Amino acid sequence: MVRVFAQGWDDRAARFQPTSVAGTMDQLRQVAEAGVELSHAVIAFTYPDEPGLSRSDRDLLWQGLGVPIFEQYLDRNNKLLAMECDAHAGMHVVAGCEGLDVESEVCACGNRAPRLMRGVRGVRIEELAALLA
Ligand SMILES: [Zn+2]
Repeated sequence: MVRVFAQGWDDRAARFQPTSVAGTMDQLRQVAEAGVELSHAVIAFTYPDEPGLSRSDRDLLWQGLGVPIFEQYLDRNNKLLAMECDAHAGMHVVAGCEGLDVESEVCACGNRAPRLMRGVRGVRIEELAALLA
């Protein structure tokens, strides 16, 4: 069963006791900080013109929620463009993604769809700062 909580994480969402949650990094940060216990997965939505999930985003979600993290790249109308698979080796292109560098080698998961590799859409400022430190 899928429920959408348009206001993000709140008491109503908590009472639903989800096994998986999906949302933007800002919404997921709230879920992680709320001490929610999930059993399946967390899906992080990222969008064009913003960086993909960073290493520190992943660390925060992993430490807060302890379930596998899957990034999904959506357009501004929330149409799926690319999605991370069980191999966690980039995101398989579903639609669009023209002009982005893709990896064409077959993924460990067996899916032959080309993949957007981590970092191809830029990294967050704090990661750049960490690289320069
Ligand atoms: Zn794959």
